[in-house]
Amino acid sequence: MSFWDRIKPAPPAVTATDAQLSSDGVRLDLTWDDGVKTDATAQVLRQQCPCAACVDEWTNKRTLDPSKVPADLRIKQVQPVGNYALAFSFSDGHTTGIYPWKLLRDITQPAA
Ligand SMILES: [Zn+2]
Repeated sequence: MSFWDRIKPAPPAVTATDAQLSSDGVRLDLTWDDGVKTDATAQVLRQQCPCAACVDEWTNKRTLDPSKVPADLRIKQVQPVGNYALAFSFSDGHTTGIYPWKLLRDITQPAA
């Protein structure tokens, strides 16, 4: 996949109105204020973690190796951060990522 294929049209500014974790913690379902529902697995969310331990703050280069994130990773807890983001406690002990709405909208997929 080329770099340009990854660029999506800029989505409108949206806010999630509901975040539901599946009972096994593997999948997060989001409902947005424009009525759209999206979801993502814990693995995808962890792979896209924006924190300073996973992305180099100076070069913006991802230092986390996505292949090291197991498919059976779970989310243990979802915490709202103000009204602009969510933070997750992952089963691998990682808790430092803060996911603003725009990032969550970008990395989750429309629910079938
Ligand atoms: Zn991180």
